[in-house]
Amino acid sequence: MYPIFAYGSEEQRRRWLPKLAAGEAVGCFGLTEPDFGSNPAGMRTVARRTPSGWVLNGTKMWITNGTISDVSVVWAKTRGAGPDGEPSGDRGDAEGPIRGFLVERGAKGFSAPEMHRKHSLRASVTSELVLDDCEVPADALLPNVKGLKGPLGCLTQARYGIAWGAVGSAMACYDAAARYSRERIQFGKPIGAFQLTQAKLADMLTEITKAQLLAWHLGRLKDAGTMRPAQVSLAKRNNVRIALEIAREARTVLGANGITSEYPVMRHANTYEGTHEIHTLVLGQDITGIPAYE
Ligand SMILES: Cc1cc2nc3c(=O)[nH]c(=O)nc-3n(C[C@H](O)[C@H](O)[C@H](O)COP(=O)(O)OP(=O)(O)OC[C@H]3O[C@@H](n4cnc5c(N)ncnc54)[C@H](O)[C@@H]3O)c2cc1C
Repeated sequence: MYPIFAYGSEEQRRRWLPKLAAGEAVGCFGLTEPDFGSNPAGMRTVARRTPSGWVLNGTKMWITNGTISDVSVVWAKTRGAGPDGEPSGDRGDAEGPIRGFLVERGAKGFSAPEMHRKHSLRASVTSELVLDDCEVPADALLPNVKGLKGPLGCLTQARYGIAWGAVGSAMACYDAAARYSRERIQFGKPIGAFQLTQAKLADMLTEITKAQLLAWHLGRLKDAGTMRPAQVSLAKRNNVRIALEIAREARTVLGANGITSEYPVMRHANTYEGTHEIHTLVLGQDITGIPAYE
């Protein structure tokens, strides 16, 4: 919803936001490509301006809800368009900025096959978006943003949500480990009676509490309108890291059961919305002023 809310025309907002908010329509966000994940600036998806609209070509990958979406936000490099997206014969095939497009289900040349065999984030559908001479009308363009700051601005919002979501994953793992530690008997007593198990649970609870406070404070900054992308990176990076560590630790408490799908531990080991390394570099740049991506 955020790209349409922040960058869409009044007409696009009216058409999609009420339905998306009510859950009557599903949307997805197509940025990542097979060869460009952490480095979306290299994307190969292209939108070529025609007299009547746009023709999109390219492939997106790892797109949450792609297969079931009514509308897909697709980010593409533009060609043959003037500064406002109008056809521009005199600019020929020159490369323009990255722009966002609303591609509706059923658009000619568009398909969204589901990706299978995921071990984590199994509650949501993950998809490819295939754009093969996909034709969309001129007003499919999101008019109010140009360049990489468009998708990156959306990621800041989504990653704020991930900072909270990771805490939920950590809590589920902690919960499963704490319950199991009271029930599983070894050497004649619950494994929760061993000091080593108690230390694991105490560490998990401490990290979860710290992560909750971090996300809560970030929420206060967001409410105040002062939240910065580097602060989101700090919280998302920390909370996902502790969630992964807690999943690993919970797996040890559960013994062999820890690797089964009977318990909610393995499925919580996941990476998305930017990797740990990239958020480290975002923070490093914010601290030193020096980008270290290349
Ligand atoms: C379940 C799931 C859902 C997703 N949903 C969406 C979605 O809805 N929309 C969307 O657009 N994308 C989505 N993604 C994609 C996700 O954002 C990417 O996986 C992520 O950006 C990383 O890209 P990559 O997997 O290509 O890894 P790569 O970029 O290939 O990175 C591989 C490794 O190299 C490291 N690396 C890369 N560059 C550097 C560097 N400069 N310095 C140090 N280390 C580096 C990375 O940190 C990582 O460890 C989803 C992914 C998953 C798993």
